[in-house]
Amino acid sequence: MWRLLLIAGLLSTQAYASCEFDGVTFHADYAGGKLDGCERLAPGHFMLTTKPENTPINPSPWYSFAIESDTEQRLTLSIAADGQRPRYLPQVSENGESWQPLPFTLDEHGFQVQLTIGASATRYVSANALFTSQDYIEWATQLSESSAFEQVLLGRSTGDRPIYGLVHEKPDNKEWLLVLGRQHPPELTGAFAMLSFVDALAQQEEVMPAFFNRFNVLVVPVVNPDGVDEGYWRHNLNGVDLNRDWGKFTQQETRVVHEAMQKLISGDERLVFALDFHSTRQDVFYTMPSDYGVMPADFVLNWLDAFKKESVRSFVVRDQPGSSPGRGVFKQFIADTYGVHAVTFEMGDNTPKALLDHVGKVSAHTLMEQMLQTRQQDFIFVSPDK
Ligand SMILES: [Zn+2]
Repeated sequence: MWRLLLIAGLLSTQAYASCEFDGVTFHADYAGGKLDGCERLAPGHFMLTTKPENTPINPSPWYSFAIESDTEQRLTLSIAADGQRPRYLPQVSENGESWQPLPFTLDEHGFQVQLTIGASATRYVSANALFTSQDYIEWATQLSESSAFEQVLLGRSTGDRPIYGLVHEKPDNKEWLLVLGRQHPPELTGAFAMLSFVDALAQQEEVMPAFFNRFNVLVVPVVNPDGVDEGYWRHNLNGVDLNRDWGKFTQQETRVVHEAMQKLISGDERLVFALDFHSTRQDVFYTMPSDYGVMPADFVLNWLDAFKKESVRSFVVRDQPGSSPGRGVFKQFIADTYGVHAVTFEMGDNTPKALLDHVGKVSAHTLMEQMLQTRQQDFIFVSPDK
């Protein structure tokens, strides 16, 4: 039996599928859930399909669905991503909160997994752990209770969801650090590194007061809350890649963040550095070339050197400098607009959680030290002919 429940939205493909076969139900009717079709291939063998919200799209097929069964049974599931090769490895959970890797093989459809489900039990299968808007609110509430970070409403998304900022600010500070997360909702490993990074910053309040006596911090942990909660692949509710919209500002989400930046960083205050957390095939830092005219020229090279010395030796620090003017990428927009460095902080799709936590923490500590060692005037570009 097929049911298609259309949720009020702007993309015609946005739908939650649910289906039921002989006492087994599949559905994705929860924040972050994503399932576009199901089919019985054989007794006990089902194909679950996910489709992109629109095309063309950078392929990062996200899937997340719940399975309920009336009786105990062994199920074989083929997870298909609309002709795309699978990217995110399947994980399984009993409660939607703690997740285990799910052993898989590849079949003609995509992943094939097997699991046993008990009578009246629920299992969740997902492209990665679920971490949705509500989880961020709980995290931010804890952070603001245990530190001087304050949660502020910056504005609302295309789908009218709140976009929150976390602000750490002192009246006499002139310099700002900006941190973004979840422009691309499926990129969970980057999201987890960002949480660890921000937690580590906050925990240094008493250890490194000099940092917070000089720098203000704006964190926007979820730039694309619609994408996160609707179980999308990558784009916002208008089907637009937000990390191609900086400087163009055709989308509500980039406008909200940009307006917050302009409002907070005003008068003689300056943005001095920005980080944007993502995930890709491997851990890599996309940086601006040191000869691009961003200040101080070697700031990021020096930071990554310090990071390399303090992180576990098994973590490979890859620095990939490059520029892409006019493409609407956040890092490029920051470099061109403010004349300072920005880094796209990419964690590998399969980097384990414990390593993400470590990388987030060490990168925060070393960055704070690097920023403190840099004189205020060295963040400002001075034309050679002046
Ligand atoms: Zn990304």
